[in-house]
Amino acid sequence: MAELRAKFWENLPLADLTQAEWEALCDGCGLCCLVKLEDEYTHKIYFTNLVCSLLDIESCNCSDYGNRRAEMPDCRPITLQTLEEIEWLPPSCAYRLRRQGRPLFAWHPLVSGDKDTVHKANISTRGWTVSEKGVPIDDYEDYLISDPF
Ligand code: SF4
Ligand code: SF4
Repeated sequence: MAELRAKFWENLPLADLTQAEWEALCDGCGLCCLVKLEDEYTHKIYFTNLVCSLLDIESCNCSDYGNRRAEMPDCRPITLQTLEEIEWLPPSCAYRLRRQGRPLFAWHPLVSGDKDTVHKANISTRGWTVSEKGVPIDDYEDYLISDPF
């Protein structure tokens, strides 16, 4: 793995991060991979407890991250620009927090030094979500949940 600067998540603005640091900032929660339904008239976003078929339900990681856009054209990469546009990222998202100049939570793997703390703190999609794989699109409304954040 490319070298990461010490405490880069504390004292460096997002715009100054290297690609490796940008990727490492993700907490691995999987919450951005929840399937969402959009009201075609109001454009309001509704969450389901389905997750993208590429998400590994147990690890909460994308199973084909490098190639994901080819398989899932709807996947929105988190970049400096899309951070300005995407309204459905959870308040706990590390990119959102750092964009607001706020510190990461103690459960963030970069802070704790343990990848599992995001799951132990019940922040991630582990344990309460279902893969959309095999679920007919007409049934997605059956999985609607109240705002999970
Ligand atoms: S919500 Fe943010 S921190 Fe969590 S997996 Fe998605 S991009 Fe990473
Ligand atoms: S393609 Fe990968 S990163 Fe994109 S929503 Fe699906 S699981 Fe998440």
